[in-house]
Amino acid sequence: MTDLLTPTPSSRRDFLRTLSLGAGATLAGTAALGAPLDWLAPERKLGVALVGLGNYSTGQLAPALQQTKYCQLAGVVTGSPEKAVKWQQQYGIAAKNCYDYKTFDRMMDNPAIDIVYVVLPNALHAEYVVRAAQAGKHVICEKPMATSVADAKHMIAAMEKAGKKLSIGYRLHFEPHNQEMMRLGQSQAYGKINHLAADNGFKFGSGGTPWRVNKKLSGGGPLMDMGIYCLQGCLYTKGQVPVSVTAKFAPNSNPALFKDVEAGISWQLRFADGTVADCRTSYTENMSRLRADAAQGWFELEPAFGYGGLAGKTSKNDGKLNLPNINQQATQMDDFAQCVLLNKPTRVPGEMGLRDVQLLEAIYRAAETGQSVSTKDVVQLIDRRSAH
Ligand code: NDP
Repeated sequence: MTDLLTPTPSSRRDFLRTLSLGAGATLAGTAALGAPLDWLAPERKLGVALVGLGNYSTGQLAPALQQTKYCQLAGVVTGSPEKAVKWQQQYGIAAKNCYDYKTFDRMMDNPAIDIVYVVLPNALHAEYVVRAAQAGKHVICEKPMATSVADAKHMIAAMEKAGKKLSIGYRLHFEPHNQEMMRLGQSQAYGKINHLAADNGFKFGSGGTPWRVNKKLSGGGPLMDMGIYCLQGCLYTKGQVPVSVTAKFAPNSNPALFKDVEAGISWQLRFADGTVADCRTSYTENMSRLRADAAQGWFELEPAFGYGGLAGKTSKNDGKLNLPNINQQATQMDDFAQCVLLNKPTRVPGEMGLRDVQLLEAIYRAAETGQSVSTKDVVQLIDRRSAH
């Protein structure tokens, strides 16, 4: 066992390759028990190619990839030759690792790219995840995973066929405040949760990215973009998947801008044990809050869902939510790289993305029909890792 856990530097690459081919079960167990993984630092960090060099790639993911330990920015896929040149210069990316949407599939022959990170408008996720699978790459796909349940299932099937790992860019599962909400809620630290509330939105304004209000590219309005965090927050704090949903579109104060998607929507999730979650999202209001009211007190985050500056408090004033802010994206990507290296499951798999797309579709159906919609048949999957 000692020999297995201490590979010599010269054998490390073969060792890691063996691990990622399937011999990682014992080590995955070791990692789950909390053993330090620092000795695993590979000679070559896994190479990540960002697909779509928009705001999130530029402002968050590329800078985060300068801080990761197990993966690094190795390539890009962009429709803009100017961006390709700029990124090569800024990040020292080799020209051979830069692709456009037509040459994307040639990544198949490029061993420098291990992980493809799809950061495109929502409706394009499916095509590029499937193509990445066919190119034999592991994939991180941004949220929402897809704009239809059918697409999400197709993506999972393609990844399974390729035998590669798929995770969704759910950064908050790696963030201390949100992890503590999961732990407090799921362990019933304040007793049974009776009510949840979650709000998330921003003022879209004239500078907003146009695809977000184009249903063909976005799949919907703020529910797809921001409301998904409310949904996630309620599920991982409660530790259950809801059994039904009702919903209502908000009045549209700017029909010229929001002619194709909703300006806002509120919905109510019902859980099997009677807990109710009231959620709200909007493109006309700044908000970011997640709160749980339980039998023996309450706990909440505000702001709850941003990249930083998150803060929380509890009714007991016990400091449980006085936690550090971290680089969420670096932690999220390093976790996925370790999943690949150790052949262990990600806590934010494609099936969780599918579950959420199923719930998003149910929320829209409830708002359109005015009826309660059953969600009993959605994927039953919850991130439980932080509950212990
Ligand atoms: P942007 O509009 O800023 O960037 C999208 C990029 O996709 C464009 O810059 C462009 O890159 C590429 N693209 C390819 N085809 C199209 C097209 N037809 N229309 C528009 N862009 C196209 O979006 P974001 O970066 O804000 O969002 C991208 C994805 O990331 C979305 O799915 C979003 O939900 C998700 N996201 C997740 C966040 C999180 O916290 N997890 C935060 C923000 C976004 P190029 O010019 O290089 O081809």
